[in-house]
Order: sequence, then structure tokens, then C-alpha cells
Amino acid sequence: MRAAIYPGSFDPLTNGHLSIIARGLKLFDRLIVAIAVNPKKTPLFTVEERVELIKQACPDPRVEVDHFEGLLVNYARQRSVKVLLRGLRAVSDFDYEFQMANMNRTLAPDVETVFMMTGEDYFYISSQLVREAAALGGNVDNLVPKNVLPRLKEKFGLK
Ligand code: ADP
Repeated sequence: MRAAIYPGSFDPLTNGHLSIIARGLKLFDRLIVAIAVNPKKTPLFTVEERVELIKQACPDPRVEVDHFEGLLVNYARQRSVKVLLRGLRAVSDFDYEFQMANMNRTLAPDVETVFMMTGEDYFYISSQLVREAAALGGNVDNLVPKNVLPRLKEKFGLK
């Protein structure tokens, strides 16, 4: 069984994330979508809400949704998974992802990071931009899964 961990904040899950999950399932038998919990940050959606939204949007039994705190490589070891899956959007993602992949390799040489290029329809979608647009009443209907949309509007008191 080939498994990979797809880590991120998923605050909230976007269609860009969904695309990486769908394509990741073509390469791996099992994906663990792992929400990184950072106690120093205040997210828009709680961990429980994010777990629920991802589970609803990804009913595929090959997808497990979990969360972790602390070092990702420690979590990978704890789960006995040797592959980390990341999505790459623009060049701006590259520098950070390159640094992180190298840091993770230094910390855990047995854990490999695999990158998938985003689809052209998704390269501009980030959770942060979705949050900002939604907060200002912008139309994000095509950017997030159907189940996320009403919850997002609710957060900002929109209909
Ligand atoms: P964001 O950067 O949108 O806040 P996360 O921190 O949750 O998202 O990202 C988790 C992973 O998903 C990262 O590897 C990120 O590069 C990737 N990702 C996020 N949005 C997209 C997208 N639109 N297309 C491809 N990959 C994406």
C-alpha cells in the first residue's frame, strides 16, 4: 500500500486542494489529509470544522482526515508514512516549498516530498485569498467545494 500525507492548513478547503487530492489518489493508494494545527494562530475554521468539511467533500474511503501539531516529519514517522504530498502553484510557492522540503529531508532523510503542479484553473486559488474575498462579500462560488460555501458565508454573516 502506497500512502502519502497531504499536509496543510485547509482554512478552508478549496477546489485547488480538492484537485491535488483527486490527482494524488491516482499516484497513491491512500492519502492522509493532515491539518497542521498551529496554536499560535487563530484560524477561521476550528480543527473540528475543517475535519468535518474535508470529510464531507472527500467521501472516498482512501482519504483519511487527521490533524497534527508540531513537526510534520515526526507526524509522518508516527503514522509510518514516507511520502509528503504538496501542491505547487506559482513561482512564489517554490522558494518556500524548496526550503521546507530540504529542511524536512535534513530532519528525516527517509521521508520524501512529492510535488504536484496545480491545474491552470486553480493556480490563483489560496485559502487566504478565498477568506479575504469572502470577508468582503466577493463571489467565491467557484473556488471552494459546495459544502464549504455556506459555512464560509456563515462565518462572515453573509447569506
Ligand atoms: P493555502 O496555501 O491555500 O493556505 P494550505 O496551507 O492549506 O493552503 O496548503 C496545503 C497544500 O496545498 C500546499 O502544498 C499548497 O501549496 C497546496 N495548495 C493550496 N492551494 C492550491 C492550489 N490552488 N493548487 C494546488 N495546490 C494548492
